[in-house]
Amino acid sequence: MQLNIVDGKMQYLFDESGRRYLDAFAGIAVVNCGHCHPDVVKPVIDQIKRLQHPTTLYLNHAIADFSEALASKLPGDLKVVFFTNSGTEANELALMMAKLYTGYQDIVSIRNGYHGNAAGTMGATGQSMWKFNVVQTGTHHALNPDPYRGVFGSDGEKYARELHDLIQYGTTGHIAGFMFEAIQGVGGIVELAPGYLSAAYDIVKKAGGLFIADEVQSGFARTGDFWGFEAHNVVPDIVTMAKASYRRLLFWRRLCRFRSYPICRQGDWEWVSLAVVTTPEIARVLTRRCYFNTFGGNAVATTAVIGDARGRGLMLGVELVSDHKLKTPATAETLHIMDQMKELGVLVGKGGFFGNVFRITPPLCFTKDDADYLVEAMDYSVSKM
Ligand code: PMP
Repeated sequence: MQLNIVDGKMQYLFDESGRRYLDAFAGIAVVNCGHCHPDVVKPVIDQIKRLQHPTTLYLNHAIADFSEALASKLPGDLKVVFFTNSGTEANELALMMAKLYTGYQDIVSIRNGYHGNAAGTMGATGQSMWKFNVVQTGTHHALNPDPYRGVFGSDGEKYARELHDLIQYGTTGHIAGFMFEAIQGVGGIVELAPGYLSAAYDIVKKAGGLFIADEVQSGFARTGDFWGFEAHNVVPDIVTMAKASYRRLLFWRRLCRFRSYPICRQGDWEWVSLAVVTTPEIARVLTRRCYFNTFGGNAVATTAVIGDARGRGLMLGVELVSDHKLKTPATAETLHIMDQMKELGVLVGKGGFFGNVFRITPPLCFTKDDADYLVEAMDYSVSKM
């Protein structure tokens, strides 16, 4: 049964009966710093009393301040920030810029990845279940360098060679861009095999393409590094981001001081930054036309055992299988355990192609005690089966 959540405080949610839940999945949709963090709520209220102008038609110094603060968190020449309304829109903009900048049309993304629900991003998404009758022309999906289920195991170089072949055999040999998640979120917290991304970088560059990091889920300190790509020694040409936001509340204060809507998802009060950051040279392609967006500111029969536990920092996945050797997805069991955990007051997410992966992405205020409680609740639920 769907929960009717009425209140939130830091790492906790409360339903209409007043029951408290430990929220270990807030990170995908709510601010990193926790539900209704007082240091966020106060400046938001102050600002709404002062100015609440839902468009980017006019200048406000705080936008520049905030862009600068954001760019300072990125390496290299990633200095130009565009604010958008959703992760989808950020990725669509990134794909468009890559095509404009390179003059090529082909986009390569990774199987099992998720990038959004508009035409380009739905195409780039590598899972059939998220695709409505979308035109896929010019979109190619590379083998997933999945250390647990992938055909080459943890051999990142081999997957990269496949990427090379995909480009050579499946395109003109030139591509506009390569879009990836450093850790696949919706796909079930899948880390990319070691060595893959750095090898992929060279291949993409040789094909003339831009390297586009989708940090919508892995960004903003969730993995322990500020950005997911940092663990792979690559500097992307474009970084997209959304949802989870800042570890440093100072950022929040800056963000919220000026106004909310242009850099937030409008309406549902997620105080988050949704943006695309790129280099001045690439950003210049948008000066050819006008770019604007209004708000840019018990079916359980078998025993599940844990097949794989993975991830970094507070972006963790636990994959349940009913047979270790065959890696048979324990989909029904996953759902059952998730429900049991809910009964115990702990909320986790579910994902992966087979729906058999727990996605644990709590807010950053999560404590060691919370983590212990989560593990206890999971342990108890699994052992009860
Ligand atoms: N990229 C990734 C990695 C995502 O996980 C998501 C959303 N789950 C998106 C893009 C799309 O973001 P939005 O739902 O804000 O459009």
